[in-house]
Amino acid sequence: MIRASHTEITNTQYDLVVIGGGITGVATARDAALRGLSVLLVEKDDFASGTSSRSSKLIHGGLRYLETYQFKLVAESLREREKTLTIAPHLTDPQQFLYLLYDGYPESRAILNLGLTFYDIAAGSVLKRRHKMLTADKVLAREPHLRSERLKGAGLYWDVLTDDARLTIDVAKGAAEAGADLINHAAVTGLLIENGHTRGVTITDTITGGTYDVHARQVVNATGPWTDQTRSLEHTKSTHKLRPTKGAHIVVKKSDFPLNTAVFLRSPDDNRVVWPTPSLQKDVVYIGTTDTDYTGDLDDVHPDERDVRYLLNVANHTIPDAHLTEQHIVGSWAGLRPLVAPDPGVSTSNTSREHEITEGATGMLTISGGKLTSNRIMARQLVDAALLGLKSKTRKAPTGAVPISGGDMVVAKRVARDAADAGVPSHIIDIWVHRYGSNATEILKIWKADLKNQEIVGARGLTRAEIIYGVQNEMVKTLADLLIRRTSAFFWDETGGLSHADAIADELELLVPWAPGQRAKEIAHYRVLVQKHRFTPLAG
Ligand code: FAD
Repeated sequence: MIRASHTEITNTQYDLVVIGGGITGVATARDAALRGLSVLLVEKDDFASGTSSRSSKLIHGGLRYLETYQFKLVAESLREREKTLTIAPHLTDPQQFLYLLYDGYPESRAILNLGLTFYDIAAGSVLKRRHKMLTADKVLAREPHLRSERLKGAGLYWDVLTDDARLTIDVAKGAAEAGADLINHAAVTGLLIENGHTRGVTITDTITGGTYDVHARQVVNATGPWTDQTRSLEHTKSTHKLRPTKGAHIVVKKSDFPLNTAVFLRSPDDNRVVWPTPSLQKDVVYIGTTDTDYTGDLDDVHPDERDVRYLLNVANHTIPDAHLTEQHIVGSWAGLRPLVAPDPGVSTSNTSREHEITEGATGMLTISGGKLTSNRIMARQLVDAALLGLKSKTRKAPTGAVPISGGDMVVAKRVARDAADAGVPSHIIDIWVHRYGSNATEILKIWKADLKNQEIVGARGLTRAEIIYGVQNEMVKTLADLLIRRTSAFFWDETGGLSHADAIADELELLVPWAPGQRAKEIAHYRVLVQKHRFTPLAG
């Protein structure tokens, strides 16, 4: 995936411009490009820099939505879960989850069993992954540190863990492979409105500051929490509004919080369903999530003291002997759910996760709401709606049959063997295959090309080869692009990747390349970001 050039973009009359490079935007670009439309996607910061790197990292039906009788949403999401396993096998990991039942919970054992049976059937995976009901003794034999007092048992069922940011990047790369042009670090700052119709966008490059116009037959707004801001570029009043709610997670070491299976249970503070989840990184557990109305700065969302107190209470309620405090938190994140505003009086947790497509006064289409899991369906419906505006028809895109970028596991397995033959350490092969799937082929080539590229530059096995790949193939422009969205050091590493920031910045300064003075600014900016997500002072 190579950043489309300014000249290329301004010289093209696109069928579709997609504003926003979260999962919704990139899936839309992929769908449209696979149908043969000419597409440009514009992302103001980095792909997945909004909510799509700050979710609970589940590809799931959403068992808790059964509480509010959202059967259709759950069934649709489960079918999508199964589809995602086939098109993104490197980024999806089926895991067992324990839905714990304590005395006093509203759901009975029978109701939970019924809900989980629906879950298995709707997913169509009854034979492969069927739930089991466990007694309290069986639960404690499996997870001996859980609170045993008033434990009645649990439902043991399956869902899927992912790396949300990488999923977004690989869908973006899939869009590029299908012919879409994509640019990051470029914001849509205006709409080109001709005779009352949006016919393109004004783009401001956030790195150079340059501004230019791009023409398109149809523009779609997939800007998640920024939806209302983008809508306001039409300069007309909209009756549709978002009600963003904030969800925070904290990360703790597994050695401080010994949990092997993700658990669903109820918060001691407000009885909401919450979920401590062992990360795919094996050595850490993340605990989420909060759900509170948010009216602050959309560009500066992070957990606050109240979120941390709530989540520590959840942790200590789950494993009382852990006695966790702020000192134990090694990472955190918070994101905004781009939920469609409900009728007055509806609580945040009960606000619908379903999406909505609306047409603005100048013809711009806006998609809001939805889930990471349902990105493919949202994209298909949005492109269908855009085609009505274009007065043209195309066949549905085969998004469920074409793997996203990196999703060819036959190739991925072959690369793993080749990498072992070439002497790549096994823990690094494991990281490459899970992070890049079949695209690890390219990293191996870079690794083999020069001994210098085999050097480990960052935490958790980050080699120079991977940094080069990120810049050349994934549009890495900043330290945060690499350490947050491409490699997740921000989320799982105790220092958020800061311990190696100087050495990594040395590489990026030459590879990107950065303007004079940029290196120091990048490190300082990243340090502030990491500090905002840690609750004890950083060393150094
Ligand atoms: P975003 O990811 O926010 O993308 C919008 C993009 O638009 C941003 O990158 C932004 O920079 C860009 N943008 C904004 N304005 C402009 C502009 N003017 N020009 C160019 N670009 C612009 N779903 C699940 O399926 N599973 C889960 O486990 C799950 N957990 C969640 C947990 C939490 C705490 C939250 C908050 C949500 C969760 N969700 C989950 C929901 C899911 O994460 C979101 O629905 C999804 O990520 C939203 O994606 P998006 O593309 O619509 O928005």
